[in-house]
Amino acid sequence: MANETNNPETLALHAGYRADPATNAVAVPIYQTTSYQFDSAEHAQKLFSLQELGNIYTRIMNPTVDVLEKRVAALEGGVAALGVASGQAASAFAVQNIAHAGDNIVSSTNLYGGTWNLFANTFKDQGIEVRFVDPADPKAFRKATDERTRAYYAETLPNPKLEVFPIAEVAAIGRELGIPLIVDNTAAPVLCRPLDLGAAVVVYSTTKYIGGHGTSIGGLIVDGGNFPWEDFKDRQPYLNQPDPSYHGAVWTEAVKPLGPIAYIIKARVTLLRDLGAALSPFNAFQIIQGLETLPLRIREHSRNAAAVAEFLSKHAQVDGVIYPGLQEGTARDRAAAALKNGHGGLVGFHIKGGKAAGAAFIDALRLFYHVANIGDARSLAIHPATTTHSQLSVEEQHRTGVTDSYVRLSVGIEHIDDILADLSQALAVAAKAVPAAA
Ligand code: PLP
Repeated sequence: MANETNNPETLALHAGYRADPATNAVAVPIYQTTSYQFDSAEHAQKLFSLQELGNIYTRIMNPTVDVLEKRVAALEGGVAALGVASGQAASAFAVQNIAHAGDNIVSSTNLYGGTWNLFANTFKDQGIEVRFVDPADPKAFRKATDERTRAYYAETLPNPKLEVFPIAEVAAIGRELGIPLIVDNTAAPVLCRPLDLGAAVVVYSTTKYIGGHGTSIGGLIVDGGNFPWEDFKDRQPYLNQPDPSYHGAVWTEAVKPLGPIAYIIKARVTLLRDLGAALSPFNAFQIIQGLETLPLRIREHSRNAAAVAEFLSKHAQVDGVIYPGLQEGTARDRAAAALKNGHGGLVGFHIKGGKAAGAAFIDALRLFYHVANIGDARSLAIHPATTTHSQLSVEEQHRTGVTDSYVRLSVGIEHIDDILADLSQALAVAAKAVPAAA
């Protein structure tokens, strides 16, 4: 049945698993094992030579993680996925799989801070240059490209600006030049399917909406199976030339009988094997529990966030609301083209009274948690200027869209009346704390 539908509500519950082959258990079991007995010497040899796919060692694959991988691949319309220990590991592997020292990638400037650090500092140390461009102009990606550019990178719905990335436009430029677009879809699962718009690879921090309950760090890379790596032998050497780390395998040829999975197999059997950022089976189980209700939750997140944005936009203590559903012009068009059935759960706003009012507002919240996270079923809030972005200069803060007055909300799925009541009372406290600001 799961193979016969594209409906996310059904796929999230059924794709990749029917019942445990060993016990008939309906819930996905936690396979808490490090290793797997081979049927015979021949079987072992076939697994290691990739003639057959199967379990070898949990650093590289695990049956619980496998269900999560298959399920998210199905939801995204991809061919296969790789579960890893965190969203950070997913972003790093997605790029390192096709870019080595001396190469470069072109990335949108609008990124999660952790990804920014990875790209601007750690990749730089590893010899991978990241060329940051403003996504307002998709043509900037082409302009920044040279013969050593191996990938384009962006987030679907980056905060704090919450302006949807022009996925189709940049993917089309990349496809002409042999450059895959990698999209971090963490903030918009189900609402957006980047592969349908031309992206080649999707990455997730499953820590956020997919897990959804704030219990487990995890990450995923989804291979669209839709990128013609073999047509760009010079541009994509690591999938087209013999790989010395796997007996000289040429990935586009070695796994052809198994499907268009060269990219994701290489990531699994080289990067995951060597760097070891494996997702634990227990975390995969927790993330699967979240995934099963993701389509339902993301609708509620979106519905509540739209109501919060509306409420804040009319509030006397608020100086402006950042939310895709309230944008105009190009930003609105891009949101309409990429997001279906909702604008996600993130809302930003500027509070009157700047930093002091922002801090007073956060301290007064009683339902919202004050945490550096997004995508939990519970409502979350943070004042970036005094927390996540406090190490940046004021100029850098402004460039990323953060000002003293900016507050970020990750709106949860509590009853909307309770969410609005909490915001209302905290705004009233903030107004009293900074009377001169009003
Ligand atoms: N990508 C985005 C958009 C994120 O918001 C985050 C974390 O906040 C990450 C990646 C990194 O994920 P993790 O914390 O699971 O490593």
